[in-house]
Amino acid sequence: MKSVFASWIAACSLCVACGGSVSNASSEAEKFDYNVEQFADLQILRYRVPGFESLSLQQKELVYYLTEAALQGRDILFDQNGKYNLRIRKMLEAVYTGYQGDRASAQFKALEVYLKRVWFSNGIYHHYGCEKFVPGFTPEYLREVLSGIDPAALPLAAGQQVEQLCEELFPVLFDPTVMPKRVNQADGDDLVLTSACNYYEGVTQAEAEAYYNALKDPNDPTPISYGLNSRLVKENGQVKEKVWKVGGLYGEALSKIVFWLQKAESVAETSEQKAVIEKLISFYQTGDLKAFDEYAILWVKDLNSRIDFVNGFTESYGDPLGMKASWESLVNFKDLDATHRTELISANAQWFEDHSPVDKQFKKAEVKGVTAKVITAAILAGDLYPATAIGINLPNSNWIRSAHGSKSVTIGNITDAYNKAAHGNGFSEEFVAGPEELRLIDTYGDLTGNLHTDLHECLGHGSGQLLPGVDPDALKAYGSTIEEARADLFGLYYVADPKLVELGLTPNDEAYKAEYYTYLMNGLMTQLVRIEPGNQVEEAHMRNRQLIARWVYEHGAADKVVEMVQRDGKSYVVVNDYARLRTLFGQLLAEVQRIKSTGDLAAARDLVETYAVKVDPTLHAEVLARYKKLNLAPYKGFVNPRYEAVTDAQGKITDVKVSYDEGYAEQMLRYSRDYGTLPYVNE
Ligand code: ZN
Repeated sequence: MKSVFASWIAACSLCVACGGSVSNASSEAEKFDYNVEQFADLQILRYRVPGFESLSLQQKELVYYLTEAALQGRDILFDQNGKYNLRIRKMLEAVYTGYQGDRASAQFKALEVYLKRVWFSNGIYHHYGCEKFVPGFTPEYLREVLSGIDPAALPLAAGQQVEQLCEELFPVLFDPTVMPKRVNQADGDDLVLTSACNYYEGVTQAEAEAYYNALKDPNDPTPISYGLNSRLVKENGQVKEKVWKVGGLYGEALSKIVFWLQKAESVAETSEQKAVIEKLISFYQTGDLKAFDEYAILWVKDLNSRIDFVNGFTESYGDPLGMKASWESLVNFKDLDATHRTELISANAQWFEDHSPVDKQFKKAEVKGVTAKVITAAILAGDLYPATAIGINLPNSNWIRSAHGSKSVTIGNITDAYNKAAHGNGFSEEFVAGPEELRLIDTYGDLTGNLHTDLHECLGHGSGQLLPGVDPDALKAYGSTIEEARADLFGLYYVADPKLVELGLTPNDEAYKAEYYTYLMNGLMTQLVRIEPGNQVEEAHMRNRQLIARWVYEHGAADKVVEMVQRDGKSYVVVNDYARLRTLFGQLLAEVQRIKSTGDLAAARDLVETYAVKVDPTLHAEVLARYKKLNLAPYKGFVNPRYEAVTDAQGKITDVKVSYDEGYAEQMLRYSRDYGTLPYVNE
């Protein structure tokens, strides 16, 4: 499972990237340009890999081999996402690199945007909505342009002429009724026949379901993930699986992945990690799903390696029946600084519990903090590239999760890149009240935002206790909003505590103001950009933020602790008294903990319905209009850093260099050239 911005509920964190994040550009990273380019509904960013240089040579070598293994799988995903994707990509790349005519014409520009979208989505369907792209250029134009391209550069089948290629591919490209959706979930349709993804060929949904139902034993306590690594086809009237393995379907790509995994195995950090890689290789070689489960168990137990990776058929969102997994890879290493931060917080968990403003009877006598694992991504590939998750929780097999646990991580440098890229996108300048607030946010915003998340995750949810006999579900539908409010308030109360300065987690006694300001601006105003006109606040995290912000706003109104001011017809949040604001957060924390500890449903309902749900339509319309003018792209993705192995005369690796200067099209064309592992004309 992965958590992305649109549904970052599973990760249960403060959503920093609702398009409304505000953050700083710290000096060491100031020169780094996080923004690459923007087109269609997409923004392309780049991310840094801090800490890579300080890895040992062996670790760098391991990362290098694993990144090569990651990139070799790119074509698999293109083919999984639609049977014509690789040929269409190849054809358009030939035009993009070979066309000698007017490259400034509207038609060529439209073709360029289309190709960039194909690269982004690993195919001709929107990566999020799954609908087929509508080209902004005409079939006549493409036909004419293709006639001037060297046929050797085109994905022609044996004996095929360019004209025949057009006949074959143009309906797929231009006819909106041909294979219109990658994954169709419409109830009542034959989901297999009406989905364009390339997981089934010539079989109906009923045939596919019957095939797998016959294989499954409902009494098997350790079932394999049926259908995970194959295409289901009908040949000569027989339904059968074509397995993705070395020597099978996608064999060309998988042998290259195996080649690099074998190199990785030779420099593994520990015997546990070596066993993980060995088992994965054996899975790719045999296609045996029992071997895959054995691999997953070894992987989940390997907790001591600094370097870690995902490489394989992992998530099944792209299959309408939810069985077949798209290929993806992520190579990463543990972020020691961030992990140190969460360890320090956890080590002081009892102090925080003892000093909270909550009534003593609702406190835990003995509290244990949680250490959140933060990782640094070194490469994103397959279904995690260019659009990526920010949190990952694997493996997906239910019985393995119950029997052996799972690994849950957040990707720190990706979150950081989203934050940094948001700096200067005009959002803060539009919504933040003035230069002093902007200065606080620029200087401390990232730091205190991360700290608030850590406090929420490591301490907030684990703090407090229910009185004896109180049903944990007593708050019913209001339970999750109240629970998130409790964790957020615990974090808000303590992010301003001198204890954090003492622990070295914040630099001084003004840093917390950045978090207080952005929290209130978001809760009172800017999170409304994610709500359609006329709707109320529904999602638990959003309700929690509005609850807290509106409650402190109203309870401090008599003394103008927080104000909404109007300037030139625009609304702004102003915090007049940060110290009083902290006291209000403490009061609300005490009340919310009382509600939780005693199971006071009436009070929970009253709080949520009064403060968390309703939207002021006038303010909402204003915020939406101001946001629209900023022209921010709703979807984001990344180019990868580039790794180069430095070798001595004997070919032995002596160092691995990382660089960040590659452009988007440049990277995509390089990947197509160097990692084009699959034939363009499949059977
Ligand atoms: Zn939470």
